[in-house]
Amino acid sequence: MIHYKSKAEIELMRESSLLVSKTLALVAAAIKPGVTTLKLNDIAEQFIKQNDAKPSFKGYNGFPFATCISVNDAVVHGFPSAREMQPGDLVSVDIGVFKNGFHGDSAYTFAIGDIPGELKQLMHITKASLYLGIEKAVHGNRVGDISYAIQHYAEREHKYGVVRDLVGHGLGKHLHEEPQVPNFGKKGTGAKLLEGMVIAIEPMINLDTKDVFHDKDGWTIRTADGKPSAHYEHNVNIRKSKADILSSFTEIEAAEQSNPHLFSDY
Ligand code: MG
Ligand code: MG
Repeated sequence: MIHYKSKAEIELMRESSLLVSKTLALVAAAIKPGVTTLKLNDIAEQFIKQNDAKPSFKGYNGFPFATCISVNDAVVHGFPSAREMQPGDLVSVDIGVFKNGFHGDSAYTFAIGDIPGELKQLMHITKASLYLGIEKAVHGNRVGDISYAIQHYAEREHKYGVVRDLVGHGLGKHLHEEPQVPNFGKKGTGAKLLEGMVIAIEPMINLDTKDVFHDKDGWTIRTADGKPSAHYEHNVNIRKSKADILSSFTEIEAAEQSNPHLFSDY
């Protein structure tokens, strides 16, 4: 069942989504070689709580942390850890907050230091695929139109692996609502997009194989070939002419560009 949101509820959701964006910007500013991903998690968790919100992921199906931090071959659902970040790392940070009864859920991939050209391209194409999906997220289209746009660009045009096992989703009072929003599929298929729907669009794009496996920690999803993966996620309110993006990368990108340890020209 799809839960449609009123205009007032959309504004509450915007507040939750923007709090995630601000949290990701704070994390972006703190990334540097030698810092642990657990430290990033703690910065995020503290900021979320200071803003009268709760981290959505902590305790979700037993997930033990406030954030998911997935480094290199980890695609999503990585555990923050005592591992120190180092130049060449690709660090995907996924954060959810619950505030005023609604969840926000957004993710961003950061590169530490100068990374190989093939990883710059992976980041660029993954972020661009997200916006191509968002272009299709308008009233009257179908979920498959979003799915097809992402898959066609990332997989057919650029030969990357589009993860099949995990998908985007509806968002609202629950972290994961109907409909599922896969990053692969056929045009004109799936649930109809209607005003009042809020969805999380989140391409997870692998450098090579689309295949993934569950790490023995029970959560972390890794690429089958051990190669890196990128992940960007926005929350989108379906409207008639053009999607309304509830989250924002503006502050995150500004923090990325002003952090000398992050590569941002991708
Ligand atoms: Mg997320
Ligand atoms: Mg999500």
